[in-house]
Amino acid sequence: MNYISTRGHVGQSQKAGVHNFEDVLLAGLANDGGLFVPETWPTFAPGFLEGLAGKSYEDAAIEIMLPFLGDAIGRDEFTVLVHQAHARFAHKAVTPLIQIDQQTWLMELFHGPTLAFKDVALQLLGQLFDHILAKRGARITVVGATSGDTGSAAIEACRDRDAVDIFILYPAGRTSDVQRKQMTTVPSANVHAIAIEGNFDDCQALVKAMFGDADFRDSHSLAAVNSINWARIMAQIVYYVVAAVALGAPGRKIAFAVPTGNFGNVYAAYAAKRMGLPIERLIIGTNSNDILARFFATSEMRKEAVVPTYSPSMDIQVSSNFERLLFELLGRDGAAVEAKLAEFQATGAFSVSPEIFAEVSALFSGIAVDDATTKATIAGIHADTGYVLDPHSAVGVAAAARVAGGVPAPIVALACAHPAKFPEVVTDATGIHPALPPHMADLFERPERIVILPNDLAAVQSFIRSHARIAVSPRQHRHR
Ligand SMILES: *Cc1c(COP(=O)(O)O)cnc(C)c1O
Repeated sequence: MNYISTRGHVGQSQKAGVHNFEDVLLAGLANDGGLFVPETWPTFAPGFLEGLAGKSYEDAAIEIMLPFLGDAIGRDEFTVLVHQAHARFAHKAVTPLIQIDQQTWLMELFHGPTLAFKDVALQLLGQLFDHILAKRGARITVVGATSGDTGSAAIEACRDRDAVDIFILYPAGRTSDVQRKQMTTVPSANVHAIAIEGNFDDCQALVKAMFGDADFRDSHSLAAVNSINWARIMAQIVYYVVAAVALGAPGRKIAFAVPTGNFGNVYAAYAAKRMGLPIERLIIGTNSNDILARFFATSEMRKEAVVPTYSPSMDIQVSSNFERLLFELLGRDGAAVEAKLAEFQATGAFSVSPEIFAEVSALFSGIAVDDATTKATIAGIHADTGYVLDPHSAVGVAAAARVAGGVPAPIVALACAHPAKFPEVVTDATGIHPALPPHMADLFERPERIVILPNDLAAVQSFIRSHARIAVSPRQHRHR
């Protein structure tokens, strides 16, 4: 299996334009600024889905992901990595399903170490990094920015790994207490959570600037773990397939309701459909940062200012993974993708043709859910069923409820975080203060290591230089 960039140009030489799984895993982003996608979509062989029935999550995961690895990792090695990646999940089914009404199921994706769905992919990413770096005798420095959930999930994925140092920048005073403590209470020597005196955009700009500094990037072998990394998408495909099979696929079509901001999670569902999963409809729930809902209503992607909501992990206006869908919609023409994105950059908007809009509308619905509806949904589901939703999951459930009547299939709504991660609105809505699960119950007693730095590139680079365990010289790096 090879990978190409969403901005790759026709006529580009094979050697320059095609990458294997290892390159894609470590690079994150293609050199031309595009995102990696499989050169061709693998498809399920006849009988494949039927054969998954009754298999464990791990065994299904191995079969579903193997085609994406090419010859980078063998089946036996991968089997070990997949089992290690799921060892820290608190539920044996990894992503259990819970029925909440006649048509709707919740898929709980929050049983990993940091209580949000990002663990599902990042726990595997940590294993894959370790494996490939050990094989190459190489080291990396992971640098990332977070508004909350990604940072802690990446830290848990990379902690105590010999070949990895990780530096996560978060906006000082702007994450929830649970989110901050999940980053600052990890005692591992290779973990550095840094509070930046600025907002999330400042953190992201600092990370971007470090990747843009070629000397710094090469001397520390910088690597990214953000949601554009293909391996994260690959790992997320698994739970769509596992849920659909559990509810009767391939004999029965299934719909999914996905709360999203970056289009990462729902793009994995699209990938599963391309592989042959019978998906009836993909219902996208956004909060008031509704650029995606507006796109699926009007065919125009138009950027607006970000507003804070009850579901902060979706307070995003530019959905980076949408580029991967756009690539497919534009007939896999990298130059056309580049032109649309240049237009978006210059004018803050772009549109797609009526033909393309008809194609996406046949599969996707986009629904915006405001804070009042989010809170009412948490209260309503609790009153009806006793189940306590987190605000992100509530956005997906509310979106599902809005269109359920027109969807002739079971709907699986993704529960993306544990309610104890966002206790204020949950307590407001239900009168119940959600408790942290047992493995995190002492989070508030664990000592924190607080590092605060100014919003200043030189200060952050100097901190990383003095704390990264090994800096490879640029010369050495080039010759490796
Ligand atoms: C990251 C996150 C999301 C949004 O995920 P996308 O990659 O934007 O699809 C939703 N809910 C929670 C709890 C998250 O942490």
